[in-house]
Amino acid sequence: MKIMVAVKRVIDYAVKIRVKPDKSGVETANVKMSMNPFCEIALEEALRLREAGHASEVLVVSMGGAQCSDTLRTALAMGADRAIHVSTSHSLFPLTVAKLLQALATSEKPNILLLGKQAIDDDANQTGQMVAGLLQWPQGTFASKVQMDKEAVGSVTVEREVDGGLETVKLQLPAVITTDLRLNQPRYATLPNIMKAKKKTITQITPEQLGVQITSDLEILEVFEPPKRKAGVIVASVDELLDKLKNEAHVI
Ligand code: AMP
Repeated sequence: MKIMVAVKRVIDYAVKIRVKPDKSGVETANVKMSMNPFCEIALEEALRLREAGHASEVLVVSMGGAQCSDTLRTALAMGADRAIHVSTSHSLFPLTVAKLLQALATSEKPNILLLGKQAIDDDANQTGQMVAGLLQWPQGTFASKVQMDKEAVGSVTVEREVDGGLETVKLQLPAVITTDLRLNQPRYATLPNIMKAKKKTITQITPEQLGVQITSDLEILEVFEPPKRKAGVIVASVDELLDKLKNEAHVI
């Protein structure tokens, strides 16, 4: 069985985001970039499935500028077998990424396509659902547990986090799974594995070679920071608090 994992390069979660002066987006120059945390969880799950004997290959893919290769190298150091970089300098929106993943899935024929539930830069939470729709594969989104079925070969059971609690679904393979925070704790790449990863292959490919046009119906008009929070006030009594909530904040 082959597992394909989509990993996105994003601004590191610990970095304070700064909006560009022209409000066209956020500053990425000289900013620490890392693998999207939910993609790390997706990769960890793929590696665990391979280590448990359910898969023979973990393929990682990433779409974007030249620096995506660094993210793929990290994924190889964590234990992925092979990597594909779909290289483009265009801005990518979820539907385009989904089309690129559809093309890759059609040629690579993975049994499971694993993605993060969302990328922490745009918080779109759309790519997994869209690619499942394009491929017409079943989807198990927000997975907090993934178990290969022993009795029914060719299916996987996914426990998903939903508003009211947990939902368990059985998916026929091939299937798309997107990962939630509680699924696992991703490993760190060890020094020997970082060295070994230098020898692993990253195949470069273009969207044109995959037959995908990078066009979008979406245009970002403006990006701005949320308004600064006003300083709080200390009230002397409950009566004063009620008065402020009623007559100033107008919330009661
Ligand atoms: P999103 O729908 O943008 O929140 O992203 C959800 C997931 O789709 C991410 O966690 C990745 O697994 C995948 N994804 C989105 N954009 C890319 C990209 N440029 N390269 C690789 N994977 C991506």
